[in-house]
Amino acid sequence: MYLGLDIGGTTIKAGLIDEENRVLESRKVPTVIDNLEGFISKLTEVICDFQKSRPIDAVGIGVPGLRSSKTHVIATSPNIPCLANVNLEKMMADQVHLRVVTDNDANAGAYAEFVCGAGTGLQHLAYLTLGTGLGSGLILNGSLYTGASGYGGEFGHTVIDPNGRLCACGKQGCIETVASGTGIVTTARDKLRTGRNSRLNEIAPPLTAEKIYDAAVRGDETAREVFADTGHWFGLACANLINLLNLEMIVIGGGVMASGEFLLGKAIEVARHYAFASSFADCQIVQSRLWPDAGMIGAALLARDRA
Ligand SMILES: [Zn+2]
Repeated sequence: MYLGLDIGGTTIKAGLIDEENRVLESRKVPTVIDNLEGFISKLTEVICDFQKSRPIDAVGIGVPGLRSSKTHVIATSPNIPCLANVNLEKMMADQVHLRVVTDNDANAGAYAEFVCGAGTGLQHLAYLTLGTGLGSGLILNGSLYTGASGYGGEFGHTVIDPNGRLCACGKQGCIETVASGTGIVTTARDKLRTGRNSRLNEIAPPLTAEKIYDAAVRGDETAREVFADTGHWFGLACANLINLLNLEMIVIGGGVMASGEFLLGKAIEVARHYAFASSFADCQIVQSRLWPDAGMIGAALLARDRA
């Protein structure tokens, strides 16, 4: 039995995965983000709780950050700063006396979609997760692609406008700044600043992607434009991936996609326009089959499959 944990900026999701890749049992706990001791003790508590009910062979942890495949140290984790420069798998293995594997959370999600989700049986796919940011993971030639030192697949930080918005990574103009939940809110604010007549003006702060989606569903023109603009950027992202990698599938997950029809239709239209017709024809763009559990399932599968 393998235990998968998906560490988010606010919540940790943990679940036991059986031999048929099904979630047997899962739970959620709040993430400690500002002190390592608290973070480790919360994780230990969760794992020990699962250990009480069933024997666990190994633990997989999906982390929102860059993990070195050489040293296994987490190099950076903007949303959970206490994890920077920490060898989380060694620390946790010492605590719970089990084999522990870590990887980037979107890489784990990509692996889950490849093994038992929308991309089962395929060899070349990208998994994009539209949440607060734009996470991504790549399956190339039938295996998870992580690059020379484990930091690969960060497509959300592809620069599309050198003079663009500031990004959570500390740089400027990354595609994540326009194609993400944060990007949706900033785009809406930019439009409202021009004095538009929109029901978004009456919404109680804070403005969120969900509230903008609700306004779009109710026919608000500005909110619909925000989703169309975001879909446009997201479609360009897909076109670039398709032309670069000749993928069979792009799988899209994330909280923003749960409210997705305004965005996905536009994204597919734009990707069709900008990608090579021959490459576009070979690539399906689909919603995740495992969302919101893809990261958690993938982490458990990585623990099982990575020796
Ligand atoms: Zn960035």
